[in-house]
Amino acid sequence: MRFSVLGSAGSYNSPGSACSSYLVQQGDCSVLLDAGNGSMANLFDFCNPAELNAVVLSHEHADHWVDIVGVYHYRLLADSSGGEIPLLAPPSLLAALSKQLHADDFKGVFKPIPIDPSTEIEVEGLKLRFSRTNHPVETYAVSVTGQDSVIVYTADTGPDCEPLNLLVAEADLLVAECTWADQFTYSGPPLHMNPSSFVRLLDRSQATLAFATHVAHPQSRQQVLEEIRRLTDRNVELAIDRLSVEV
Ligand SMILES: [Zn+2]
Ligand SMILES: [Zn+2]
Repeated sequence: MRFSVLGSAGSYNSPGSACSSYLVQQGDCSVLLDAGNGSMANLFDFCNPAELNAVVLSHEHADHWVDIVGVYHYRLLADSSGGEIPLLAPPSLLAALSKQLHADDFKGVFKPIPIDPSTEIEVEGLKLRFSRTNHPVETYAVSVTGQDSVIVYTADTGPDCEPLNLLVAEADLLVAECTWADQFTYSGPPLHMNPSSFVRLLDRSQATLAFATHVAHPQSRQQVLEEIRRLTDRNVELAIDRLSVEV
C-alpha cells in the first residue's frame, strides 16, 4: 500500500499545513481517510478526486471533514465518471452532511454507510475495520488491511483507549494523533494525546513505523517528536503534508 499525507495540522490549519486527511492506495484503489480543511488541494497531487473508491470520515469535528464538500461537488459537477462510492461516517455526521449538501440521497455521488464498532467493509481489496476512540463525540479509528500490510489511523483520541489498543495491535504503520506536548496542561474529558500517551499506544502495536500527527499550532512539531523519541527507540516520524511512503 501507499500512504500519503494530505493534511496533518491539529484542530485548525497551521502555517503551510492543511487539516487531517490521508490517502491509502493499493493498485488502482484509493481510499480517503478524513478530509480536513485545505486538504483537497493536496489530494490532486496523488489522485483525481473522481477516482476515489471510498471515503471514511472519522467524526463530526470540522477539521476532519470540511473538504468533503469540495470532493462532493467535484464528483457531482466536474467529473462524475467515478459513479457512486461508499461514504463511511458516524450516523450524526452523515445526517449533518446531507443537510449541509441539501441532498438527502447524496445524489448518486456517495452511498452513505453509518459506521459502528462492528462495521467491516472491503473496497477493491482493502479491508476496513473500525474502533471507537476516547473523544467527546462519536469518533472512529480505522484499520486498513491491504495485500501485505496493515495501516491504522487513530483519528482524534484521548489516552489509553482500550478498543484502540486492540485495533493497533496488528498495525505495520501506526498514524497516531499527538496534539499536545507533554507540558501542555489540560483537564477535562478525554480529548487528545501527548508524547507519553502516544508512546503507550505505540507499545501496544508491532508497527515498524509510526507517524505523529495532528500537532496543534503553535506547539512545535519538532519538540513533540523529540519528546516522543526521548521515550522510545521505535521508528517515529512526523506526518508532514504531501509526504508519501510505501507500507
Ligand atoms: Zn481534530
Ligand atoms: Zn476531534
